[in-house]
Formats: sequence, structure tokens, C-alpha cells
Amino acid sequence: MEKTAAPLISIRGLTKAYGTFTVLHGIDLDVAEGEVVCVIGPSGSGKSTLIRCINHLEAFSADSTITVDGIRVAPGPALAKVRAEVGMVFQSFNLFPHMTVLKNVMIAPMRVRKTPEAEAQRKARELLARVGISEQAEKFPGHLSGGQQQRVAIARALAMEPRVLLFDEPTSALDPEMVGEVLDVMRKLAGTGVTMVIVTHEMGFARQVADRVIFMDGGKLVESGTPTEIFDNPQEARTRGFLRAVL
Ligand code: ADP
Ligand code: MG
Repeated sequence: MEKTAAPLISIRGLTKAYGTFTVLHGIDLDVAEGEVVCVIGPSGSGKSTLIRCINHLEAFSADSTITVDGIRVAPGPALAKVRAEVGMVFQSFNLFPHMTVLKNVMIAPMRVRKTPEAEAQRKARELLARVGISEQAEKFPGHLSGGQQQRVAIARALAMEPRVLLFDEPTSALDPEMVGEVLDVMRKLAGTGVTMVIVTHEMGFARQVADRVIFMDGGKLVESGTPTEIFDNPQEARTRGFLRAVL
């Protein structure tokens, strides 16, 4: 299918500094509706900072522009609208420990969207089934495995019906035997047409699931291409060096 619509996420000249230390050096990136973009690169290259700027969890320089679904990402009243459209899944799950799994998934739609409780609960059960943990609904997060907690976090993000889901190394904190179950859920999601931007060290997953892979180094977007282009025929020496080290 031809993609002619305006990009869902548009990033132009994204620059970000901590004091005198520049972390992002003028990143340009468009993400189309339904696209799955995997961001790879060495530790400290600015991957987390890049995706955290998309929903303004990090402030960025005033001459940079990010738009999500046509809305300019900037401090002010429009930011709540952006954040309602952008779901985020972190390395460390960040579930509410004092709420059941079910409540974790219900709470944002009820508080932010004013969804009635019965409707929020129906939706939450549907999402928990979708990530394969219906039977854990009444438990507290602390009683779940890391892989189960991360699947709850994905269900919780989906509950707000976001236009785009951002993932920051969602499997890096997991024991190796739990990585697969989370990647399986993400793979299934990608197949449903959800727009996803995924920072990951899982190169096999990126190769299999990404429409596009982006390699970052030193706060720059060094190279972007299809998985085949990036993994089998990288153009830049830095990309080749990184892949040689991790593959
Ligand atoms: P990655 O996710 O690719 O590992 P990050 O986006 O976390 O990279 O970090 C990019 C750079 O910014 C690193 O050099 C890191 O040390 C620096 N950095 C991140 N957060 C802060 C902060 N709050 N204050 C100062 N420097 C930071
Ligand atoms: Mg990071």
C-alpha cells in the first residue's frame, strides 16, 4: 500500500543538551502511520533521549521541532493531547505497585479519558487477554514475573488507544528466559498496524519486525534503512563496527 499521508511523527533538527554537553545533534526523522522503526546503537548514543523527546519527557532546544499527528510537541496545553496519543513502555515496567494488574490497565482511561469504570474494566480484560495474562488480572505487580509485568505495561499503554507506542529497551531488564514472551507480544502488535518506535538491543527482533532500522552513534542519526540494508549492507563504517561487535 502506498503511504502518501503526512508522517505521524515528524522530527526536524532535534538538538538536546545537558548544560554544555550536547546529546542530540540535529536529528531528522519521520515515522509514518503504521510503521515499525527500531532504533539501535551503542550505549550513550542518545537513543533514550530521542524517544523521550517525542512526548516531551525531555525538553529540547527551542529551534528543534517535533510534531505528533500534526500537533507541535512543546510545553503548554497541547502537550496533554500529545501524551494521550503516545504510549510509552520503559525498561523498568513502572507499574503502580499498590494496584492490581487489572486496575493498572484501567486507571489511565478512567482518570484521563473519563471512561466509565465498567467500560474500562471490559477493555482492560480484553487487553490482558491480548497480551496473554488474563489469569493474572487480580494479582499485584510484585507477584508477577518480569516478563508478565512488562506485558501488563504494554496492555496499560494500549488502554489509552495511543496512535504510537514508544519502547525503550523493553526486554533489557528481563531474565533471558522471559525476553521471548515480551518480544512475541510486540511482534503480534506490530502485525496489527500499530505505529511503534522501539529502542532495542535485540537485533534478531529488529531484523524480523522493523520496517526501518535506525543506527545512532554520538547523538547523531548515522544511518537509516530497511533491516536488510542495515544488517546486510551497512554503508557507514560506524554501523559496521557496531554490528560486528553485537552480532
Ligand atoms: P542511550 O539510550 O543511547 O544509552 P541516552 O539517551 O540515555 O543514551 O544518553 C545519551 C547521553 O546523554 C549519554 O552520554 C548520557 O550520559 C547523557 N545523559 C543522559 N541523561 C542525562 C542527564 N539527565 N544529565 C546529563 N547527561 C545525561
Ligand atoms: Mg537508553
